Amino acid sequence: MGEFEKVRKHFNTKITPEMKKFVDECVLTSSRYIFTHRSGRHQYGYCTHCQKDFENKETLKHGSVITCPECGSKCHVRASGKGHKHLRDFAYFVYYDKSIHDDKSIVAKGYFVERDYSGDIRSVETGYQIHAVYLFCPGEKGIMYQLNTWSKRWESHKSVYPLRRTTMAGMKNCVSLESISKAVRGTPFQYSTWEKYSDDDFVRFFSLAAQYPSVEYLTKIGFGEAIEAKLRGWPNYGSINWRGKSIQQVLRLPKQMIKPVIRSQEKINLQTLRMIQMACKDGSKFTTDEVIKIVQGIGGSIDPNDLGKASKPFTIRKTLNYLKKQTEKDKQFYNSPAGVLYMLADYQRFCKELGMDLNDEYIHFPPHLRRQHNNLMKQVEVQRDALLDKKILKRYRALKRYIFLANDLMIRPAKSAQELISEGEKLHHCVGTYVKSYADGETNILFVRRKSAPDVPYVTVEVRGNEIRQAYGHNDTLPTSMVKKFLDEFSMTKLNRKYEKRESLWA
Ligand SMILES: [Zn+2]
Repeated sequence: MGEFEKVRKHFNTKITPEMKKFVDECVLTSSRYIFTHRSGRHQYGYCTHCQKDFENKETLKHGSVITCPECGSKCHVRASGKGHKHLRDFAYFVYYDKSIHDDKSIVAKGYFVERDYSGDIRSVETGYQIHAVYLFCPGEKGIMYQLNTWSKRWESHKSVYPLRRTTMAGMKNCVSLESISKAVRGTPFQYSTWEKYSDDDFVRFFSLAAQYPSVEYLTKIGFGEAIEAKLRGWPNYGSINWRGKSIQQVLRLPKQMIKPVIRSQEKINLQTLRMIQMACKDGSKFTTDEVIKIVQGIGGSIDPNDLGKASKPFTIRKTLNYLKKQTEKDKQFYNSPAGVLYMLADYQRFCKELGMDLNDEYIHFPPHLRRQHNNLMKQVEVQRDALLDKKILKRYRALKRYIFLANDLMIRPAKSAQELISEGEKLHHCVGTYVKSYADGETNILFVRRKSAPDVPYVTVEVRGNEIRQAYGHNDTLPTSMVKKFLDEFSMTKLNRKYEKRESLWA
Protein backbone atom coordinates (compact mmCIF):
# COMPACT_ATOMS: atom_id res chain seq x y z
CA MET A 1 0.00 0.00 0.00
CA GLY A 2 1.38 3.42 -0.98
CA GLU A 3 1.81 6.13 1.62
CA PHE A 4 -1.16 8.08 0.37
CA GLU A 5 -3.36 4.97 0.39
CA LYS A 6 -2.75 4.69 4.15
CA VAL A 7 -4.29 8.14 4.56
CA ARG A 8 -6.89 7.63 1.85
CA LYS A 9 -8.69 4.89 3.78
CA HIS A 10 -9.54 7.36 6.56
CA PHE A 11 -11.90 9.56 4.55
CA ASN A 12 -14.38 9.63 1.73
CA THR A 13 -14.94 12.47 -0.69
CA LYS A 14 -18.73 12.39 -0.71
CA ILE A 15 -20.32 15.82 -0.81
CA THR A 16 -22.88 15.49 1.98
CA PRO A 17 -26.07 17.58 2.35
CA GLU A 18 -24.46 19.26 5.40
CA MET A 19 -21.49 20.33 3.31
CA LYS A 20 -23.78 21.67 0.59
CA LYS A 21 -25.70 23.61 3.17
CA PHE A 22 -22.48 25.04 4.61
CA VAL A 23 -21.32 26.13 1.15
CA ASP A 24 -24.70 27.65 0.36
CA GLU A 25 -25.07 29.52 3.63
CA CYS A 26 -21.52 30.38 4.61
CA VAL A 27 -18.98 29.92 1.83
CA LEU A 28 -20.78 31.23 -1.24
CA THR A 29 -23.35 33.43 0.52
CA SER A 30 -22.84 36.32 -1.83
CA SER A 31 -23.20 34.13 -4.90
CA ARG A 32 -26.95 34.78 -5.18
CA TYR A 33 -28.36 36.66 -8.17
CA ILE A 34 -31.60 37.91 -9.59
CA PHE A 35 -31.40 37.98 -13.37
CA THR A 36 -33.96 40.34 -14.88
CA HIS A 37 -35.53 40.33 -18.33
CA ARG A 38 -38.28 42.38 -20.02
CA SER A 39 -41.32 41.16 -21.81
CA GLY A 40 -43.59 43.89 -23.16
CA ARG A 41 -44.07 46.51 -20.48
CA HIS A 42 -43.17 44.18 -17.64
CA GLN A 43 -39.88 43.25 -16.01
CA TYR A 44 -39.43 39.74 -14.67
CA GLY A 45 -36.83 38.31 -12.33
CA TYR A 46 -35.27 34.89 -11.79
CA CYS A 47 -33.56 34.09 -8.48
CA THR A 48 -30.58 31.72 -8.74
CA HIS A 49 -30.96 30.78 -5.08
CA CYS A 50 -34.61 29.67 -4.91
CA GLN A 51 -34.83 29.17 -8.67
CA LYS A 52 -38.18 30.96 -8.88
CA ASP A 53 -39.51 33.39 -11.48
CA PHE A 54 -41.53 36.41 -10.54
CA GLU A 55 -42.83 39.65 -11.97
CA ASN A 56 -41.23 42.75 -10.55
CA LYS A 57 -43.53 45.44 -9.19
CA GLU A 58 -40.79 48.03 -9.44
CA THR A 59 -38.07 47.95 -12.07
CA LEU A 60 -34.88 46.47 -10.59
CA LYS A 61 -31.66 48.22 -11.43
CA HIS A 62 -28.64 46.28 -12.68
CA GLY A 63 -25.96 46.20 -10.00
CA SER A 64 -28.24 46.84 -7.03
CA VAL A 65 -28.68 44.50 -4.09
CA ILE A 66 -32.22 43.53 -3.14
CA THR A 67 -34.09 40.95 -1.11
CA CYS A 68 -35.64 38.20 -3.20
CA PRO A 69 -39.44 38.43 -2.83
CA GLU A 70 -39.69 34.63 -3.00
CA CYS A 71 -36.97 33.38 -0.64
CA GLY A 72 -35.92 36.49 1.22
CA SER A 73 -32.18 36.17 0.36
CA LYS A 74 -30.01 39.13 -0.36
CA CYS A 75 -29.30 39.01 -4.09
CA HIS A 76 -27.29 40.99 -6.62
CA VAL A 77 -29.38 42.18 -9.54
CA ARG A 78 -28.06 41.43 -13.01
CA ALA A 79 -29.84 42.36 -16.22
CA SER A 80 -29.90 39.38 -18.60
CA GLY A 81 -29.19 41.74 -21.46
CA LYS A 82 -25.88 42.79 -19.96
CA GLY A 83 -23.23 40.14 -20.39
CA HIS A 84 -22.37 37.74 -17.58
CA LYS A 85 -19.63 35.98 -19.50
CA HIS A 86 -17.14 36.59 -16.74
CA LEU A 87 -19.46 36.05 -13.79
CA ARG A 88 -17.81 33.35 -11.70
CA ASP A 89 -17.70 32.99 -7.90
CA PHE A 90 -15.21 30.84 -6.06
CA ALA A 91 -13.87 30.21 -2.56
CA TYR A 92 -11.94 27.70 -0.46
CA PHE A 93 -13.15 25.92 2.63
CA VAL A 94 -12.04 23.26 5.08
CA TYR A 95 -14.43 20.66 6.39
CA TYR A 96 -13.77 18.19 9.22
CA ASP A 97 -14.96 14.62 9.64
CA LYS A 98 -14.37 11.59 11.79
CA SER A 99 -12.01 9.05 10.28
CA ILE A 100 -13.98 6.19 8.72
CA HIS A 101 -11.12 3.82 9.47
CA ASP A 102 -10.20 4.57 13.10
CA ASP A 103 -12.62 5.97 15.65
CA LYS A 104 -9.93 7.97 17.49
CA SER A 105 -8.73 9.98 14.51
CA ILE A 106 -10.18 12.91 12.64
CA VAL A 107 -9.69 14.17 9.09
CA ALA A 108 -10.04 17.52 7.36
CA LYS A 109 -10.56 18.16 3.68
CA GLY A 110 -9.91 21.38 1.80
CA TYR A 111 -12.22 22.14 -1.12
CA PHE A 112 -12.12 24.73 -3.84
CA VAL A 113 -15.72 25.55 -4.81
CA GLU A 114 -16.99 27.57 -7.73
CA ARG A 115 -20.14 28.65 -9.53
CA ASP A 116 -19.91 29.67 -13.13
CA TYR A 117 -22.69 31.92 -14.42
CA SER A 118 -21.21 32.48 -17.87
CA GLY A 119 -23.59 30.02 -19.57
CA ASP A 120 -27.23 29.18 -18.90
CA ILE A 121 -28.09 30.88 -15.61
CA ARG A 122 -30.83 28.34 -14.86
CA SER A 123 -28.52 25.38 -14.72
CA VAL A 124 -25.61 26.67 -12.66
CA GLU A 125 -24.12 23.99 -10.45
CA THR A 126 -21.62 24.22 -7.61
CA GLY A 127 -18.32 22.61 -8.57
CA TYR A 128 -16.25 20.96 -5.82
CA GLN A 129 -12.56 20.21 -6.20
CA ILE A 130 -10.68 18.64 -3.33
CA HIS A 131 -7.17 20.12 -2.94
CA ALA A 132 -5.92 19.08 0.47
CA VAL A 133 -6.50 16.31 2.97
CA TYR A 134 -5.30 16.19 6.56
CA LEU A 135 -5.20 13.29 8.96
CA PHE A 136 -4.85 13.71 12.71
CA CYS A 137 -4.19 10.56 14.75
CA PRO A 138 -3.62 10.87 18.52
CA GLY A 139 0.05 10.55 19.41
CA GLU A 140 1.27 11.42 15.92
CA LYS A 141 2.10 14.56 14.03
CA GLY A 142 -0.61 15.67 11.64
CA ILE A 143 -0.31 14.45 8.05
CA MET A 144 -1.04 16.64 5.05
CA TYR A 145 -1.40 15.79 1.39
CA GLN A 146 -2.01 18.32 -1.34
CA LEU A 147 -3.24 17.60 -4.85
CA ASN A 148 -0.77 18.71 -7.47
CA THR A 149 -3.20 20.15 -10.01
CA TRP A 150 -0.79 19.60 -12.92
CA SER A 151 0.25 16.03 -12.32
CA LYS A 152 -3.04 15.09 -10.55
CA ARG A 153 -0.92 13.38 -7.89
CA TRP A 154 -1.23 13.65 -4.14
CA GLU A 155 1.95 15.05 -2.64
CA SER A 156 2.80 14.88 1.05
CA HIS A 157 4.04 17.87 3.02
CA LYS A 158 6.64 17.71 5.75
CA SER A 159 4.54 19.81 8.06
CA VAL A 160 0.91 20.73 8.16
CA TYR A 161 -0.15 24.17 6.99
CA PRO A 162 -3.33 25.86 5.81
CA LEU A 163 -3.69 26.34 2.05
CA ARG A 164 -5.24 29.73 2.72
CA ARG A 165 -1.69 30.90 3.39
CA THR A 166 -0.45 29.71 -0.01
CA THR A 167 -2.33 28.54 -3.10
CA MET A 168 -5.76 29.60 -1.82
CA ALA A 169 -4.73 33.03 -0.57
CA GLY A 170 -6.55 35.94 -2.15
CA MET A 171 -10.01 34.38 -2.14
CA LYS A 172 -12.68 33.87 0.46
CA ASN A 173 -11.62 31.23 2.99
CA CYS A 174 -13.86 29.42 5.45
CA VAL A 175 -13.75 26.61 7.95
CA SER A 176 -16.81 24.81 9.25
CA LEU A 177 -16.64 25.07 13.05
CA GLU A 178 -19.74 22.93 13.27
CA SER A 179 -17.97 20.17 11.38
CA ILE A 180 -15.11 20.36 13.91
CA SER A 181 -17.50 19.99 16.87
CA LYS A 182 -19.09 16.99 15.24
CA ALA A 183 -15.84 15.37 14.17
CA VAL A 184 -14.13 15.59 17.56
CA ARG A 185 -17.10 14.31 19.56
CA GLY A 186 -16.21 10.98 21.14
CA THR A 187 -12.55 11.17 20.06
CA PRO A 188 -9.57 12.23 22.22
CA PHE A 189 -9.71 15.56 20.36
CA GLN A 190 -12.96 16.40 22.12
CA TYR A 191 -10.88 17.68 25.05
CA SER A 192 -8.18 19.29 22.96
CA THR A 193 -9.58 22.78 23.86
CA TRP A 194 -9.57 23.84 20.17
CA GLU A 195 -12.48 26.22 20.73
CA LYS A 196 -10.27 28.40 22.94
CA TYR A 197 -7.92 29.30 20.09
CA SER A 198 -8.06 31.14 16.84
CA ASP A 199 -6.18 29.34 14.13
CA ASP A 200 -6.63 29.77 10.37
CA ASP A 201 -8.54 26.59 9.77
CA PHE A 202 -7.29 24.69 12.82
CA VAL A 203 -5.08 22.32 10.87
CA ARG A 204 -2.00 23.58 12.71
CA PHE A 205 -3.82 23.37 16.01
CA PHE A 206 -4.94 19.78 15.50
CA SER A 207 -1.50 18.75 14.33
CA LEU A 208 -0.10 20.13 17.58
CA ALA A 209 -2.87 18.62 19.72
CA ALA A 210 -2.50 15.23 18.02
CA GLN A 211 1.22 15.14 18.64
CA TYR A 212 1.31 16.60 22.16
CA PRO A 213 -1.19 15.81 24.93
CA SER A 214 0.46 18.74 26.77
CA VAL A 215 -1.75 21.09 24.71
CA GLU A 216 -4.67 20.08 26.88
CA TYR A 217 -2.72 20.58 30.15
CA LEU A 218 -1.42 23.96 29.09
CA THR A 219 -4.85 25.31 28.29
CA LYS A 220 -6.27 24.01 31.55
CA ILE A 221 -3.61 25.65 33.71
CA GLY A 222 -3.81 28.90 31.77
CA PHE A 223 -0.67 28.76 29.63
CA GLY A 224 -2.53 29.02 26.34
CA GLU A 225 -0.03 31.72 25.38
CA ALA A 226 2.48 28.96 24.66
CA ILE A 227 0.07 27.37 22.21
CA GLU A 228 -0.78 30.67 20.54
CA ALA A 229 2.94 31.36 20.16
CA LYS A 230 3.57 27.93 18.70
CA LEU A 231 0.69 28.30 16.21
CA ARG A 232 2.02 31.65 15.06
CA GLY A 233 5.66 30.64 14.98
CA TRP A 234 6.62 33.04 17.77
CA PRO A 235 9.37 32.14 20.25
CA ASN A 236 8.51 30.26 23.39
CA TYR A 237 12.09 30.46 24.72
CA GLY A 238 12.25 26.73 25.32
CA SER A 239 9.90 27.27 28.26
CA ILE A 240 7.66 24.32 27.42
CA ASN A 241 8.48 20.64 27.25
CA TRP A 242 5.84 19.68 24.70
CA ARG A 243 6.49 15.98 25.13
CA GLY A 244 6.03 16.18 28.90
CA LYS A 245 3.71 13.62 30.43
CA SER A 246 2.87 15.55 33.62
CA ILE A 247 2.45 19.21 34.52
CA GLN A 248 5.85 19.15 36.21
CA GLN A 249 7.48 17.86 33.05
CA VAL A 250 5.57 20.18 30.74
CA LEU A 251 6.47 23.27 32.77
CA ARG A 252 10.00 22.01 33.48
CA LEU A 253 9.61 22.89 37.16
CA PRO A 254 10.22 21.10 40.47
CA LYS A 255 7.12 19.98 42.30
CA GLN A 256 7.14 22.73 44.95
CA MET A 257 7.08 25.42 42.25
CA ILE A 258 3.97 24.20 40.43
CA LYS A 259 1.47 25.71 42.84
CA PRO A 260 3.01 29.20 43.14
CA VAL A 261 3.47 29.39 39.36
CA ILE A 262 -0.08 28.34 38.55
CA ARG A 263 -1.40 30.70 41.22
CA SER A 264 0.33 33.69 39.58
CA GLN A 265 -0.15 32.36 36.06
CA GLU A 266 -1.84 35.56 34.83
CA LYS A 267 1.32 37.54 35.50
CA ILE A 268 3.68 34.92 34.11
CA ASN A 269 4.49 35.12 30.42
CA LEU A 270 6.77 32.68 28.64
CA GLN A 271 9.89 34.72 29.35
CA THR A 272 9.07 34.80 33.03
CA LEU A 273 8.41 31.08 33.06
CA ARG A 274 11.77 30.40 31.40
CA MET A 275 13.52 32.65 33.90
CA ILE A 276 11.85 30.86 36.83
CA GLN A 277 12.97 27.52 35.39
CA MET A 278 16.58 28.65 35.04
CA ALA A 279 16.65 30.35 38.44
CA CYS A 280 15.42 27.10 40.04
CA LYS A 281 18.32 25.23 38.53
CA ASP A 282 21.19 27.63 39.11
CA GLY A 283 20.52 28.35 42.77
CA SER A 284 19.45 31.97 42.37
CA LYS A 285 16.68 31.25 44.89
CA PHE A 286 14.24 33.78 43.49
CA THR A 287 10.62 33.72 44.52
CA THR A 288 8.06 33.67 41.73
CA ASP A 289 7.06 37.25 42.58
CA GLU A 290 10.66 38.42 42.37
CA VAL A 291 11.05 36.98 38.87
CA ILE A 292 7.77 38.55 37.75
CA LYS A 293 9.05 41.93 38.93
CA ILE A 294 12.42 41.44 37.25
CA VAL A 295 10.92 40.54 33.88
CA GLN A 296 8.51 43.47 34.11
CA GLY A 297 11.49 45.67 34.97
CA ILE A 298 13.56 44.71 31.95
CA GLY A 299 10.49 45.14 29.79
CA GLY A 300 10.67 41.81 28.04
CA SER A 301 13.66 43.00 26.03
CA ILE A 302 15.93 40.21 27.24
CA ASP A 303 15.77 36.63 26.04
CA PRO A 304 16.12 34.62 29.28
CA ASN A 305 18.34 32.13 27.48
CA ASP A 306 20.84 34.89 26.65
CA LEU A 307 20.84 35.86 30.30
CA GLY A 308 21.41 32.26 31.34
CA LYS A 309 24.27 31.87 28.88
CA ALA A 310 25.98 35.04 30.12
CA SER A 311 25.57 33.85 33.73
CA LYS A 312 27.08 30.37 33.62
CA PRO A 313 28.71 29.15 35.82
CA PHE A 314 27.39 31.89 38.11
CA THR A 315 23.78 32.58 39.01
CA ILE A 316 21.26 34.69 37.16
CA ARG A 317 20.83 36.66 40.37
CA LYS A 318 24.49 37.61 40.28
CA THR A 319 24.32 38.65 36.61
CA LEU A 320 21.22 40.76 37.16
CA ASN A 321 22.93 42.59 40.03
CA TYR A 322 25.97 43.11 37.84
CA LEU A 323 23.89 44.50 34.95
CA LYS A 324 22.22 46.92 37.35
CA LYS A 325 25.54 48.17 38.73
CA GLN A 326 27.09 48.60 35.31
CA THR A 327 24.05 50.51 34.07
CA GLU A 328 24.40 52.92 37.00
CA LYS A 329 28.15 53.26 36.53
CA ASP A 330 27.89 54.06 32.83
CA LYS A 331 24.55 55.84 32.70
CA GLN A 332 25.30 58.13 29.78
CA PHE A 333 26.19 55.09 27.66
CA TYR A 334 23.54 52.43 28.33
CA ASN A 335 19.85 53.03 28.12
CA SER A 336 18.74 49.59 29.32
CA PRO A 337 20.07 46.49 31.09
CA ALA A 338 19.58 44.68 27.77
CA GLY A 339 22.31 46.86 26.27
CA VAL A 340 24.69 45.86 29.09
CA LEU A 341 23.79 42.21 28.66
CA TYR A 342 24.64 42.21 24.96
CA MET A 343 27.92 43.96 25.66
CA LEU A 344 28.68 41.41 28.39
CA ALA A 345 27.94 38.56 25.97
CA ASP A 346 30.27 40.14 23.38
CA TYR A 347 32.96 40.62 26.00
CA GLN A 348 32.68 36.98 27.07
CA ARG A 349 33.05 35.82 23.48
CA PHE A 350 36.29 37.82 23.24
CA CYS A 351 37.48 36.23 26.50
CA LYS A 352 36.89 32.77 25.07
CA GLU A 353 38.68 33.63 21.85
CA LEU A 354 41.66 34.88 23.85
CA GLY A 355 41.66 31.77 26.03
CA MET A 356 40.72 33.56 29.26
CA ASP A 357 39.14 31.70 32.16
CA LEU A 358 35.50 32.70 32.53
CA ASN A 359 35.17 30.63 35.70
CA ASP A 360 37.18 33.40 37.37
CA GLU A 361 34.59 35.78 38.72
CA TYR A 362 36.80 38.82 38.20
CA ILE A 363 37.15 37.98 34.50
CA HIS A 364 33.53 36.92 34.09
CA PHE A 365 32.21 40.19 35.55
CA PRO A 366 34.85 42.89 34.89
CA PRO A 367 34.62 45.99 37.12
CA HIS A 368 34.27 48.33 34.16
CA LEU A 369 32.58 46.38 31.38
CA ARG A 370 32.72 48.86 28.51
CA ARG A 371 36.39 49.70 28.99
CA GLN A 372 37.38 46.05 29.24
CA HIS A 373 35.17 45.13 26.27
CA ASN A 374 36.95 47.67 24.06
CA ASN A 375 40.39 46.55 25.26
CA LEU A 376 39.71 42.95 24.45
CA MET A 377 38.18 43.82 21.10
CA LYS A 378 41.50 45.32 20.03
CA GLN A 379 43.41 42.28 21.31
CA VAL A 380 41.08 39.98 19.43
CA GLU A 381 41.62 41.90 16.20
CA VAL A 382 45.37 41.71 16.58
CA GLN A 383 45.17 38.01 17.33
CA ARG A 384 42.90 37.42 14.35
CA ASP A 385 45.31 39.28 12.04
CA ALA A 386 48.26 37.36 13.39
CA LEU A 387 46.43 34.10 12.81
CA LEU A 388 45.52 35.11 9.30
CA ASP A 389 49.10 36.01 8.42
CA LYS A 390 50.30 32.74 9.86
CA LYS A 391 47.86 30.90 7.62
CA ILE A 392 48.85 32.93 4.57
CA LEU A 393 52.53 32.35 5.14
CA LYS A 394 51.79 28.63 5.28
CA ARG A 395 49.97 28.92 1.98
CA TYR A 396 52.88 30.83 0.46
CA ARG A 397 55.23 28.01 1.41
CA ALA A 398 52.87 25.42 -0.05
CA LEU A 399 52.55 27.35 -3.32
CA LYS A 400 56.24 28.13 -3.75
CA ARG A 401 56.34 25.48 -6.47
CA TYR A 402 54.48 27.94 -8.70
CA ILE A 403 57.33 30.46 -8.68
CA PHE A 404 58.39 30.94 -12.28
CA LEU A 405 60.66 33.33 -14.16
CA ALA A 406 60.88 33.98 -17.88
CA ASN A 407 62.15 36.90 -19.95
CA ASP A 408 61.57 40.06 -17.91
CA LEU A 409 58.73 38.71 -15.78
CA MET A 410 58.25 36.61 -12.70
CA ILE A 411 55.26 35.09 -10.88
CA ARG A 412 54.95 34.14 -7.20
CA PRO A 413 52.23 33.47 -4.63
CA ALA A 414 51.01 36.19 -2.22
CA LYS A 415 52.92 36.28 1.04
CA SER A 416 50.69 38.23 3.45
CA ALA A 417 47.28 39.79 3.93
CA GLN A 418 48.88 43.21 3.68
CA GLU A 419 50.36 42.35 0.30
CA LEU A 420 46.96 41.27 -1.05
CA ILE A 421 45.31 44.42 0.22
CA SER A 422 47.91 46.75 -1.24
CA GLU A 423 47.91 44.85 -4.56
CA GLY A 424 44.17 45.55 -4.74
CA GLU A 425 44.64 49.18 -3.76
CA LYS A 426 47.45 49.86 -6.25
CA LEU A 427 45.79 48.10 -9.18
CA HIS A 428 42.27 49.24 -8.26
CA HIS A 429 40.74 45.81 -8.36
CA CYS A 430 39.12 43.63 -5.76
CA VAL A 431 41.80 41.07 -4.89
CA GLY A 432 41.84 42.44 -1.34
CA THR A 433 38.51 40.70 -0.76
CA TYR A 434 40.17 37.33 -1.38
CA VAL A 435 42.28 37.48 1.79
CA LYS A 436 40.18 35.03 3.73
CA SER A 437 39.53 32.55 0.93
CA TYR A 438 43.24 32.59 0.07
CA ALA A 439 44.19 32.01 3.70
CA ASP A 440 41.69 29.16 3.94
CA GLY A 441 43.02 27.53 0.79
CA GLU A 442 39.86 28.02 -1.22
CA THR A 443 41.74 29.79 -3.97
CA ASN A 444 45.32 30.62 -4.99
CA ILE A 445 46.42 34.18 -5.66
CA LEU A 446 49.68 34.84 -7.48
CA PHE A 447 51.39 38.07 -8.49
CA VAL A 448 53.08 38.72 -11.82
CA ARG A 449 55.85 41.29 -11.37
CA ARG A 450 58.52 42.77 -13.55
CA LYS A 451 61.95 41.41 -12.66
CA SER A 452 63.19 44.98 -12.65
CA ALA A 453 60.54 46.05 -10.10
CA PRO A 454 59.70 42.96 -8.01
CA ASP A 455 57.82 44.94 -5.36
CA VAL A 456 55.52 46.90 -7.64
CA PRO A 457 52.08 45.36 -8.31
CA TYR A 458 51.61 44.61 -12.00
CA VAL A 459 49.20 41.76 -12.80
CA THR A 460 47.22 39.59 -10.36
CA VAL A 461 46.37 35.98 -11.19
CA GLU A 462 43.88 33.58 -9.63
CA VAL A 463 44.67 29.89 -10.08
CA ARG A 464 42.21 27.18 -9.19
CA GLY A 465 42.59 23.48 -9.84
CA ASN A 466 45.49 23.78 -12.28
CA GLU A 467 43.75 26.47 -14.25
CA ILE A 468 44.14 30.22 -14.48
CA ARG A 469 40.74 31.59 -13.56
CA GLN A 470 41.45 35.30 -13.77
CA ALA A 471 44.36 37.55 -14.65
CA TYR A 472 43.89 41.27 -14.14
CA GLY A 473 46.11 44.32 -14.30
CA HIS A 474 45.39 47.91 -13.45
CA ASN A 475 41.64 48.72 -13.16
CA ASP A 476 40.64 45.19 -14.10
CA THR A 477 42.18 45.42 -17.58
CA LEU A 478 43.21 42.20 -19.31
CA PRO A 479 46.96 41.53 -19.58
CA THR A 480 49.05 42.61 -22.55
CA SER A 481 50.21 40.08 -25.12
CA MET A 482 53.61 39.95 -23.48
CA VAL A 483 52.04 38.96 -20.17
CA LYS A 484 49.72 36.48 -21.87
CA LYS A 485 52.69 34.79 -23.49
CA PHE A 486 54.42 34.62 -20.14
CA LEU A 487 51.33 33.15 -18.46
CA ASP A 488 50.97 30.53 -21.20
CA GLU A 489 54.53 29.42 -20.54
CA PHE A 490 53.88 29.44 -16.81
CA SER A 491 50.75 27.44 -17.27
CA MET A 492 52.46 24.84 -19.45
CA THR A 493 55.42 24.50 -17.15
CA LYS A 494 53.77 24.74 -13.75
CA LEU A 495 50.13 23.83 -14.22
CA ASN A 496 50.72 20.99 -16.70
CA ARG A 497 48.31 22.33 -19.24
CA LYS A 498 48.57 20.99 -22.74
CA TYR A 499 49.77 23.32 -25.46
CA GLU A 500 46.68 23.00 -27.68
CA LYS A 501 44.42 24.11 -24.88
CA ARG A 502 46.16 27.39 -24.29
CA GLU A 503 44.07 29.36 -26.78
CA SER A 504 40.96 28.78 -24.73
CA LEU A 505 42.65 30.42 -21.78
CA TRP A 506 41.97 33.86 -23.16
CA ALA A 507 38.63 33.19 -24.78
ZN1 LIG B 1 -35.04 33.64 -4.14
